[in-house]
Amino acid sequence: MKLIVVTGGVLSGIGKGISGASIGAILKASGYKVFMQKFDGYLNVDAGTINPYKHGEVFVMDDGAETDLDVWHYERFIDVSLNKSSCHTSGKLYEEILMKERKGDYLGQDVQIIPHFTDLIKSKIQEWYTDAEADISIVEVGGTVWDMENEYIVEAMRQLRQEFGENNVVFVHLTYLPYLAATKELKTKPTQNSVRALRTRWITPDFLITRADADISEAILEKVAFFCGVPKNHVVPAPTVESIYQIPLDFAKRDVGKLILDQLQLPSDKLDMSAWEDLYINIKASIEELHVAMVGKYVWLEDAYYSLNEWLKVAWLHQQRKVVLHFIEAEDIEKNGVDVLQDMDAICVPGGFGERGIQGMVMAAQYARENNVPYLWVCLGSQIMAIEFAKNVLGLDDANSQEFLPDGQHNVVHIMETQKSVTTKGGTMRLGTYPCTIKADTLAREIFWVEHIDERHRHRYEFNNAYREQMEDAWFVVSGTSPDGELAEIVEVKNHPYMIGAQFHPELISRPLRPHPMFVGLVKAAMEREG
Ligand code: GLN
Repeated sequence: MKLIVVTGGVLSGIGKGISGASIGAILKASGYKVFMQKFDGYLNVDAGTINPYKHGEVFVMDDGAETDLDVWHYERFIDVSLNKSSCHTSGKLYEEILMKERKGDYLGQDVQIIPHFTDLIKSKIQEWYTDAEADISIVEVGGTVWDMENEYIVEAMRQLRQEFGENNVVFVHLTYLPYLAATKELKTKPTQNSVRALRTRWITPDFLITRADADISEAILEKVAFFCGVPKNHVVPAPTVESIYQIPLDFAKRDVGKLILDQLQLPSDKLDMSAWEDLYINIKASIEELHVAMVGKYVWLEDAYYSLNEWLKVAWLHQQRKVVLHFIEAEDIEKNGVDVLQDMDAICVPGGFGERGIQGMVMAAQYARENNVPYLWVCLGSQIMAIEFAKNVLGLDDANSQEFLPDGQHNVVHIMETQKSVTTKGGTMRLGTYPCTIKADTLAREIFWVEHIDERHRHRYEFNNAYREQMEDAWFVVSGTSPDGELAEIVEVKNHPYMIGAQFHPELISRPLRPHPMFVGLVKAAMEREG
């Protein structure tokens, strides 16, 4: 087994996921099959019920597992689809152990953190590595070392190193160098202390990635190397950069991939970073601006729609355009009208739950439809599109979704039969990847080119087929459905340059080197409108 373990020190939120994923990108570009896995100390069994205000948006994988955005970094940087085996919380692991204990699997034994919990972590790593047929697996330990809740995960990693040896298990530790404005210098002591913390767990890092919000000089790298007992060329500078997509390139320039592969005793002569270089060239060339309105509910927190925002920007980069996102609270539109949308080149409504702001989103939909503004609406957004059309084109004044008006007369969006019995929260939605068939001669077919696609979902409500005929008799089109034709997956409006809604979330499978066709379509429509 070939493993790279990524730990963090000093503080969290400095880019452990992206650093690990960038190493993954380099190894992939060196010809290896790379997979990633994350272990987190939370007691939540999965991320589906955590607070989006605190943790950012919930990410959904092919098999419907809900997780935080770290797994998204892995997927987008190494361009693979991961599943529930790639992320574990302590809650999920404890649940498994306690269920076994209740079943009597440990009869007569004391069930303990060591060995039972640590063995379970190790078995998850080994199973994943074997099942994925990976050449190299990257394992990220959540939080920072010395967090009480992550101690056991760190201990499991130490045991793996002892069992497999340093040529099979490499430790990469990410730390932070604070900048002291008074003396204009970066300080290394917190990094030294975090390495000391690792050593109290009998782990000596092989590589240090040092984050900082300022340039990191060779002298500082030398100092870190000296005090932490790590070779100088194994100390990698990671200053804050303009675009995270240059990080794989920056690491590659420092031979990070080669040095790790050397330690793992694997050849490193096939490295080809040209796809990342091309993306970087596009980033640099993207100067001309286009303005996109994001009309949502959690607009004050960009993180809540992070992946959607990101793919809008990236799809634009591929056309060498710089997207400027304008976050507009749907409730503001309710209060002050649609004037704020006037100078926008495109409008986007993300997914969401609950009634707040719905009216404002409907007003934005009407504005986009009537003024030919390119418009991409995701999940809740596509439901709003149906509500707006029923209201303003069919004249059904009280058109709504059952989510917001349970006993409404004209609920053009309603709950699926199969979900009616569901009463508990967490893991109860239509979640994960479902196939979609695209009708010929539609905008959707023009965008995707193919008849069959697979897309990831996260929702409870569906388009109500009772209204399909009436709406399609006007100029609404259900252009993508489940293969049996029952569930509306893509809706669009005829006689409009680009008005399309997806019941699924295209942002969950878009990748930096392969942006999702619906985002590319939006970019092109906005550029055409610009002239
Ligand atoms: N609230 C809607 C539903 O449950 C949409 C969910 C979403 O946008 N992810 O169907």
